Amino acid sequence: MKVIALKFLSKEPYYEIVKISRKWFFMELKKTACVSRLRLVFLSAAVLSLCSCAGLSRARRGEADLPPEGDLPPEFPLSAAERAAAKVKADSPELRKYFRLEDADSPDSSGGTGILVLGEVREGDQEFDVRYDLSGAPDSQNRMKIGFTLHDKNAELLLKDEFVWNIPDESGDSAENPTGLLFAFDDDYREAWENSFDLLAQYRARVTFFVQGDYSPFCKRALERGHDIGYHTAHHLNLLNLSRGEFYQETLAGVESFRHEGVPLRSFAYPFGFSAPWMREILNGNFPIQRGFGVTFRVYNRDSIESGYIISRSIDNILFKRDEDFEAMINAMLRTVKFTGGVLPLTTHDISGADWGITGGRLEYVLKTARDLRLRFYRYSDFIR
Ligand SMILES: [Zn+2]
Repeated sequence: MKVIALKFLSKEPYYEIVKISRKWFFMELKKTACVSRLRLVFLSAAVLSLCSCAGLSRARRGEADLPPEGDLPPEFPLSAAERAAAKVKADSPELRKYFRLEDADSPDSSGGTGILVLGEVREGDQEFDVRYDLSGAPDSQNRMKIGFTLHDKNAELLLKDEFVWNIPDESGDSAENPTGLLFAFDDDYREAWENSFDLLAQYRARVTFFVQGDYSPFCKRALERGHDIGYHTAHHLNLLNLSRGEFYQETLAGVESFRHEGVPLRSFAYPFGFSAPWMREILNGNFPIQRGFGVTFRVYNRDSIESGYIISRSIDNILFKRDEDFEAMINAMLRTVKFTGGVLPLTTHDISGADWGITGGRLEYVLKTARDLRLRFYRYSDFIR
């Protein structure tokens, strides 16, 4: 047994290192060094000289360097909260993760987006609430640092910690639990859309174009590039104002011309997102998936998509004055869906600076963020069996 006493600054007690194990030696020094950086410099210098002395004397005696002894700290029993935190850090399948929407100024929401990412975990007979902080960006190794706080049922903060989450690759995703984006473009911007084919391909993004009007060769070119075509009525009228006859003309009469050209048209987006239950019932036979339109962040699982009606969130320019706001919302939504699971429908229109559209820069931002998060791009037809 070797005892080394260090005494550098008079106020500090001796530091005894019994059984020199490098790991513990440096840990002790780190603890001491927290007090002052200056002291760290002194200590480091002292350690170096001690180590080299020890090494030299051992070398003189013909001894090799000591192997790491791996002595572990004495086992202290962990509290239930600490055991729960360990489950959070391991992203245990026992955790129930979900999100809640609150006022954007809620202090816990992600970057003023109003999205709170939460979890619940049980340890013994105690239940704990988790609040996640997903503000850390993914790195080049597909990892993401995630902060969290653990609370008891009375919302009392018990501990705060963080962990590194390995972002799973969704390409081998199980068909029953899809995680990804359902990205769509509505109306009649075929030229702008076609100009984006290469950009979409660069990020391996497959999207759905909800076209209005008649069949055009664009539809086939989009299908050839791996995209999907849905229908968005003949003239983009508010269907709530139409007679049943006019409704038929707008929604079903034109479908045959597309199908004749080999474009199946199996999904349908309501103009302005407006629909009534009777419409959904009539269209169900022709369009197994119908889509509304809104500004709320909604995430779906396979069952809820296959039930036939979903509402997609708009990411049009008009909703985000500044690129920073757009990017904060895209980050919050995409990270949340990646971390908590499900499919996020997103919709825009033109690819331009128009109010109802997305700028090329913003579009690329969505594609890049989705790629960095290893999110999968789904088409509406992927949910039609
Ligand atoms: Zn539209």
